[in-house]
Amino acid sequence: MTVASTKSRIYYTKPSITELEIRYATDAAASGWGEHCYDYIERFQRQFAQHLGVRHAIATSSATGALHLGMAGLGIGPGDEVILADINWIASAAPIVHLGAKPVLVDVLPDSWCLDPAAVEAAITPRTKAILAVYLYGNLCDVDALSAIAQRHGLPLIEDAAEAIGSIWHGRRAGSMGAFGAFSFHGTKTITTGEGGMFVTNDDALYERVLTLSNHGRARGETRQFWPERIGFKYKMSNLQAAIGCAQLERIDELVARKRRIFEQYRNAFAKLPVSMNPEPTGTVNGFWMPTIVVNEHVPFDRSALLAAFKADNIDGRVFFWPLSSLGLLEPSPRHPVSDSLSKRATNLPSYHDMTEKDVDRVVNAVQPVLGDHK
Ligand SMILES: *Cc1c(COP(=O)(O)O)cnc(C)c1O
Repeated sequence: MTVASTKSRIYYTKPSITELEIRYATDAAASGWGEHCYDYIERFQRQFAQHLGVRHAIATSSATGALHLGMAGLGIGPGDEVILADINWIASAAPIVHLGAKPVLVDVLPDSWCLDPAAVEAAITPRTKAILAVYLYGNLCDVDALSAIAQRHGLPLIEDAAEAIGSIWHGRRAGSMGAFGAFSFHGTKTITTGEGGMFVTNDDALYERVLTLSNHGRARGETRQFWPERIGFKYKMSNLQAAIGCAQLERIDELVARKRRIFEQYRNAFAKLPVSMNPEPTGTVNGFWMPTIVVNEHVPFDRSALLAAFKADNIDGRVFFWPLSSLGLLEPSPRHPVSDSLSKRATNLPSYHDMTEKDVDRVVNAVQPVLGDHK
């Protein structure tokens, strides 16, 4: 009995679904049609904007869709360049490519794993149309430095906050500080609607453009039926998904707090190992979407041994993102030493609301033998 229970699978992430989510989803399925077909969507958008402290929010089918809409709304198109970090999930770069623009990859800082502001500034050309700040695993970029660069060059700063709900930069929430922000509610994220996302902005004019784009190009003041003013997109969230989102958002403090407690347990357990973890600089809060260990440089580390130890104990192992420049999918880019080095030395650790302290101990016990000999 105990043997079976200790070998239960530990997922790298998993949603927390309570009676509240089930009640709202059931209500949406039973009554959220006809004149009520937008009720949960409007409520989710309103409450999300309120939570973040922004003027506008548009629910989408994914963060990728939110990024695509927002970049289209900024007028990014063929011949333009968008600067982003080399270490990233492909979802941040794909919308740039879809718009015919070029992702320009730069290196990251070794401590934040996010955009190196000096590298960003050096990469600006007359074709640069935006800077895309992605908050990796909940870590924040140096928002002040990036905002100053953006302002100096008259460029919009875009925030991909898909992994950063709960992260706060000197009192301002991730996603609320740039030209626009994008969030993901994919099943692996801190709050989920299964699939889903959110576009947020404080810019009234950008909001109107993106609202039109998100509705197949139909402006909201248009009185003619089925009259698009331009070719738009269809990246909408359904009322059913929004119902689950409303419930998750009511629980946001609880969901983020659990992520933070799990991170703290890992950090305490690994205090003597030659690793660093997600940083939380003074004046900031990290939502710790994904606790991650980075093995110190020059310490021998066999990541496949760690992943094998996880597998042997039925624990999900997950490698750090690969440098986009290593995938061979984008226009050839120089390689970047910090990105290359980080990617090899880092591993994500499981974290989800219902993960117990004993589960975390099991992960710790799988990590210790692989890294415990090096002091
Ligand atoms: C998950 C994620 C996305 C994509 O989110 P979807 O909702 O799956 O489109 C984009 N950027 C980052 C940084 C992500 O982690």
